[in-house]
Amino acid sequence: MSIEDLKSLMEPGRVVEDQEVIRTYIDDWTGRYKGSTSAVTFPHSTDEVAKILSWCSTNQVRVVPQGGNTGMVGGSVPLNGELIISLRKMKNVSFSNTNRNQIVAEAGATLLEIQNLASGRGLMYGVDFAARDSATIGGTIATNAGGLNVLKYGTTRRQIVSVEAVTGTGKVIGNLNGLEKDNTGYHLPSLLCGSEGTLAIVTRAKLKLWPEPEETVTILFGFNTIEDAVNLTEDCMSTNTEIVACELFFQKGVDLVRDAYDLQPLWGNKNSIYLLCEFAGDSGISDRLSENILGEILQTHNSVLVATTDRERQRLWQYRELHTVAVSQKGIPLKLDVTIPLGNLPHFLDGIDTICGNINPLSLPYVFGHVADGNMHLNILQSEPNVAEMEEEILKFVVSLEGSISAEHGIGRAKAPYLHLQRNEHEISLFREMKKAFDPKGILNPDVIFLTCS
Ligand SMILES: Cc1cc2nc3c(=O)[nH]c(=O)nc-3n(C[C@H](O)[C@H](O)[C@H](O)COP(=O)(O)OP(=O)(O)OC[C@H]3O[C@@H](n4cnc5c(N)ncnc54)[C@H](O)[C@@H]3O)c2cc1C
Repeated sequence: MSIEDLKSLMEPGRVVEDQEVIRTYIDDWTGRYKGSTSAVTFPHSTDEVAKILSWCSTNQVRVVPQGGNTGMVGGSVPLNGELIISLRKMKNVSFSNTNRNQIVAEAGATLLEIQNLASGRGLMYGVDFAARDSATIGGTIATNAGGLNVLKYGTTRRQIVSVEAVTGTGKVIGNLNGLEKDNTGYHLPSLLCGSEGTLAIVTRAKLKLWPEPEETVTILFGFNTIEDAVNLTEDCMSTNTEIVACELFFQKGVDLVRDAYDLQPLWGNKNSIYLLCEFAGDSGISDRLSENILGEILQTHNSVLVATTDRERQRLWQYRELHTVAVSQKGIPLKLDVTIPLGNLPHFLDGIDTICGNINPLSLPYVFGHVADGNMHLNILQSEPNVAEMEEEILKFVVSLEGSISAEHGIGRAKAPYLHLQRNEHEISLFREMKKAFDPKGILNPDVIFLTCS
């Protein structure tokens, strides 16, 4: 068996061995995971994915499916020399013929491409985040990506109506019937969503679209205590049906972003805790906001900026959205993505500083995230040399607060050693059995979610 055999089965150009090209596919976005491979394959259709996987299964060749390679947990790169199956050439997107509020997307289409198409019809896709121009539909399904609007629209799992995929033996499964109600046994879209390429390769999906809001208002609040920020978040969630996003970040992160991008200071208070809230819906939102609980705060609070035009809104969003890139420009951080019940958030934030400080007084934790979901991203610079100790201590702390060790990035290879903190042995052995059913030879994304290679 050699890669030449696979090449001979495929159209020319589908299997690339040029190391110059390969170089751009083997390292992950964070810079923490560096892999190697002899080839990257670029299927153009579901049948070609099936052909590749069938050959790989017969020849026991391990593979890593890859979309935009923006994943944060080392799941998209070949750390043990696996063959990469890149879905980037499968980019077709079109409206469904049978439901005008649905779209059919091939796995390699990006979030932005979907949003642009939807917008042309006054519709929108419910999942959005800063990597929108690179992250693909296949990758976002595989990771059950969340993002900025989960509060209103849910995670990716809520957007997929149907899915088509190819198992580890090259069998095509699923359908694109687009039926919201289809209780014919196990629900493949839910099962494959979040499976991180360990059960099957997603090739196409039918996705639900939502009406585009007529008006959007973004408000940035500054607080002095985390309790005040959490209180306002909870007030908004319980009293305002038009809230779509609620993001928390801190002065330290804003200073880093301002430094990297030369942005203006937001206001005089040098120690703010920032809460960015976005409201969207029928026109007249600004009037409605001043009528409910927010009205009083908007009038009396000192640190508030209200943005109603796209330009002003984008200006406020950049202080939050640029955090990830700004941190990465300073070094390779230890990245954690956790969920904490809102009531435990103040305790969590205190605890993080203590844990990091005790393990390495020079470490620099940056925290920001989707606070309405309790989803905090931790980026810890200068975590060396005790990265593993710091990671384990923090994840144990998260579990002790009844949180989750992965909110939206997935387990990947990075968190696989810690899965047992969250899932019991019966669950993990059931996961292994499920994987065997989809991928009996264990060729799909080895060591992702749970350790299989070692
Ligand atoms: C600046 C920035 C901001 C981000 N913000 C968010 C955020 O707010 N919320 C969030 O959830 N994530 C966020 N991410 C993380 C990342 O963008 C998501 O995890 C995204 O879903 C990955 O999509 P991708 O196409 O890049 O997948 P990849 O990185 O290529 O792959 C991710 C995983 O999915 C598997 N996979 C990829 N394609 C397929 C397929 N077709 N079939 C089966 N398995 C497949 C891979 O093997 C891997 O395990 C952010 C990333 C960046 C760089």
